[in-house]
Amino acid sequence: PKEVIKVLVTGAAGQIGYSLLYMVANGDIFGHDQPLDLVMLDIEPMMGVLEGVAMELNDCAFTTLRSVVATADEKTGFSGIDAALLVGAMPRKAGMERKDLLAANVRIFKSQGKALDQFAKKTVKVIVVGNPANTNAGIAAKYAPSIPTRNFSAMTRLDQNRAQHQIAAKCGVTIQDVSGVIVWGNHSSTQFPDVSHAKVNKGGKSLAVYAACNDDAWLKGDFIKTVQSRGAAVIAARKLSSAMSAAKACADHMRDWFQGTKHGHHVSMAVPSDGSYGVPAGLIYSFPVTIENREWKIVQGLEINDFGREKMKVTADELAQERADALAVCQE
Ligand code: NDP
Repeated sequence: PKEVIKVLVTGAAGQIGYSLLYMVANGDIFGHDQPLDLVMLDIEPMMGVLEGVAMELNDCAFTTLRSVVATADEKTGFSGIDAALLVGAMPRKAGMERKDLLAANVRIFKSQGKALDQFAKKTVKVIVVGNPANTNAGIAAKYAPSIPTRNFSAMTRLDQNRAQHQIAAKCGVTIQDVSGVIVWGNHSSTQFPDVSHAKVNKGGKSLAVYAACNDDAWLKGDFIKTVQSRGAAVIAARKLSSAMSAAKACADHMRDWFQGTKHGHHVSMAVPSDGSYGVPAGLIYSFPVTIENREWKIVQGLEINDFGREKMKVTADELAQERADALAVCQE
């Protein structure tokens, strides 16, 4: 039998948490034969709600779930963990300035970085979902010097999934028939969903997306805008931000990190830049990666045209600014 792993979900009493915990506990992420101890962290006022979630998880009678703990204490939350799914973050409230939001989140991720450093396994794999996800991941990594920086990531998989759906719908094919979509950069409206290396399987033939769609204006315009602003569109319709799809994307990201990507396929994940594609080293930037033995590798050698290069720079510049602002808060 496999050794038990310990998994932490923060913000576990929230909307994304409610969908995500089901996928963690039923084995979709770490394997249906992988027993796990689950720790759910949230803030003190949410402990009542979290107790209810713990009851439901127990009542699901999952065969992979060995134990469930609900806590507001970081030491309990982060001790000995193999995976950290950092979903909890300060939501933007009406009238809140961007700087206030950043300051609140820097505080949370500085504290959680220190907790990872002190209490987690050194092999822990971290995904940050809470916004601003890329910058929060950078802050957590900075305060966890004993853990390799490459163990920190932020989620852009939802953006990839959204882009994949848009292409499938436009070309009249299924999701499985679309491959190779890339999201570059920040999980924000400057992200660059790039289909110039993507393929569509149509009528038994593998075609470049530009050939399959036959609508360059849409691909360079509305397609990108739709993906960039999809979160806002869901909020407008649902009066709540996307939660089920965010949870599914987080599950996709961690499943691929732990179980590997399919041969010849890459996925998008925000990871510390090593300078690939001219992205300043150290920024937590979304790249296409392949994963084997729980190690990701940035896909090299993709040809980037002028259109793409410009878009990749805009989102890198935004991340550099966010990082500088966050570091300034750290000094205060
Ligand atoms: P959600 O579960 O809906 O969202 C959680 C975080 O995910 C938010 O920061 C949200 O950012 C972010 N997010 C990233 N990508 C997406 C996406 N594509 N769609 C939607 N959200 C995305 O929020 P809730 O308010 O329901 O729950 C948050 C929980 O976190 C609460 O229970 C709260 O108590 C907890 N919390 C825990 C902390 C801790 O453990 N220390 C600290 C602060 C809060 P955005 O707001 O930009 O949508």
